[in-house]
Amino acid sequence: MKPNTKYLDENGYEFFMMPFSKMNITQGSNTWSHSGVMAIDVTNGDGSKAPYYSPCTCKCIATYPQSGQAVWVSTNKVHFANGNINYVVFVTAHDESFNAYVGMTIPQGSQIANMGNKGVGTGTHAHFQVGVGYPNTWGIVKGYFTLSGVRYPVYGFQYEPYDIDDLCFINDTTIIGGSGNWKKCTPVSNVNQAPSVPTSSEEIDQILHVGSYVTSGPMKIGNQGLKTINGSLCCYLAEIGGWFPIEYVSEYDASDGKKDNYLANTNARVYIDRVRVDSIKNGLAQIHGIWVKAGPLVEVK
Ligand SMILES: [Zn+2]
Repeated sequence: MKPNTKYLDENGYEFFMMPFSKMNITQGSNTWSHSGVMAIDVTNGDGSKAPYYSPCTCKCIATYPQSGQAVWVSTNKVHFANGNINYVVFVTAHDESFNAYVGMTIPQGSQIANMGNKGVGTGTHAHFQVGVGYPNTWGIVKGYFTLSGVRYPVYGFQYEPYDIDDLCFINDTTIIGGSGNWKKCTPVSNVNQAPSVPTSSEEIDQILHVGSYVTSGPMKIGNQGLKTINGSLCCYLAEIGGWFPIEYVSEYDASDGKKDNYLANTNARVYIDRVRVDSIKNGLAQIHGIWVKAGPLVEVK
């Protein structure tokens, strides 16, 4: 993957990426020191302590500094190479410049570690082990291997049904050595998330562009009432395709009895507050990170 880059699908999920710029696979899954686990060892091809990057936005849940090792879980579900959407848990190891700590959060594409030789290893590399789903069973012994006459346990996740190439997309990684059935994703917005502003020719033409500012006409909230999703209280807005956080809407009129920005009942009508369009695809617009149907949106200055 490229550093400092987000790889998003059309529903706003991050594609789960191979975290390296250059990849020379020196050991695959379920062999020797990877007995029983889905893990690969990767060098940069030149022995360097190359940086690598967070394959998705993730949070550190365990560290083993003596082996430059950390366990990470995605902060949201991710989109895997086999098409599945789920949480992911993964391990990075052997980083000599280790600075991870439990609770550390890293956005997709930011540096997560360096290749190194800390702990039990045979040269500078990264160990990358992946499991699907939210982890509650990391650390069980999956196998053993012997190095220089010493027998070491292999730790892993309880369920590892898929190999790394079933899970990681390979975009923007140069493969120097090693095989795999790699797939590429098609991100909707494969760019740095730098802000853009509408150009003068884009202003108020009712053709939505990335950087357009929009609001909406009035929409009655659904009879489902309100519901908390991912920590945001949402109302159901059928016109834009579903649940939407009420913090980004205002009450349009007194349909629910009083125009006080309190949605007293499902007669309430609301409109979307002025917001920037971050992406456009297939009649959908992404606002506040949420894909909505673009039809009810009205471009404003
Ligand atoms: Zn390894």
